[in-house]
Amino acid sequence: MAHANQVPVEAGAKDFAIADIQAWAISFPVPEHNSVRLGVGRARKRDAVVVKVTTAGGLVGWGESHHGRAHTSIAHLVGHALRPLALGMDATDVHGVWRRIYDAQLAAMGTGAACAMAMSGIDMALWDIRAKAVGWPLYRLLGGASRPLRAYAGGVALGWQEPAALAEEAAAHVRAGYRAVKLRLGDSVERDTARVAAVREALGPGVVILADANTAYTLDDARRMVPVLGELGVGWLEEPFPAHDYRNYELARGYGSLPFAAGENHYTRFEFNRLIDDRAVDVLQPDLSKTGGVSETLRIAAHASAYKLAVHPHTSMTGINMAATLHVLAAIDGDGYFEADVSRGNLFRDELVATPFAIGADGCVRPPEKPGIGVEVDEAFIRDHPAIEGPAYA
Ligand SMILES: [Mg+2]
Repeated sequence: MAHANQVPVEAGAKDFAIADIQAWAISFPVPEHNSVRLGVGRARKRDAVVVKVTTAGGLVGWGESHHGRAHTSIAHLVGHALRPLALGMDATDVHGVWRRIYDAQLAAMGTGAACAMAMSGIDMALWDIRAKAVGWPLYRLLGGASRPLRAYAGGVALGWQEPAALAEEAAAHVRAGYRAVKLRLGDSVERDTARVAAVREALGPGVVILADANTAYTLDDARRMVPVLGELGVGWLEEPFPAHDYRNYELARGYGSLPFAAGENHYTRFEFNRLIDDRAVDVLQPDLSKTGGVSETLRIAAHASAYKLAVHPHTSMTGINMAATLHVLAAIDGDGYFEADVSRGNLFRDELVATPFAIGADGCVRPPEKPGIGVEVDEAFIRDHPAIEGPAYA
């Protein structure tokens, strides 16, 4: 049965018919010397899901679906549940594909995080194809411009080491050009305070310090930490609580003036809708590979702009999502930060693709200039790094 939202491929655009959608779950082990301990545990391996869309005319688009700590399942979802919905559709009809998946899965089966992650990779790949089709870098197709984008040193880095060692790691990133760093909290109140104080002491007042509790705080932890982090001049406290603990966010809002950030675990505009309505969070952090791709992030950013809310997207895990995020940042309102993954030895950033960003002396990065998302994926790397099952953190 033809679907109401499935626009038939025009005769002149047959080359854009989606001929194939492939998804791979890939992994690499993290050696002990590169491992970081965070609130979610110690990293043992890295997982990712890479999505490739091919048109009948031979155009290839690449996207990333967040692994969701179930990378083989997410890849299976892309390749088996979503692929048949989009095959044969016009690859340039990116909103039509989104809507078709929405109708069949999110609307009919509930807003599942796994489906949102899976469809994110397809959406990203379709935007890659659209921009390649006109020969433009994606930011230009989105109505943006190449401009300096503020970046902070983040990713799976700056974890739970001793305060002095953490301060040295943070200082090294500042020497490299960063003017903002994000620390991982969610340990004990005392140790979190010691780490932030040591980094503030080492970096001085001119560097922006951000903090991420990775959902590990209780309400009482937040009651104690919010004033302390405020006094230490922290720019935001990210995810003190799990995404669905709406009431805790609202209550903790009263503990001080420290801005709260959240969004990497909010899926689609429909969950951001509530996040905005609740007025508990100042900084929205959609992740393109989780929340529904480039399309959905643009919708969320448009909603946020109506309330002058900051959008500082979350990024992980591969250079594909990082590059796509740079394009989106260059095209949306505001002066959003790019989360620069400064983790040691991230092969998904440096070998799956060529590292898609470089920090400048001005503390900023710029979007890639090649057509599309602007990264070339090494398919041999995909073959050589098959999925490793089991938890990535222990
Ligand atoms: Mg976070």
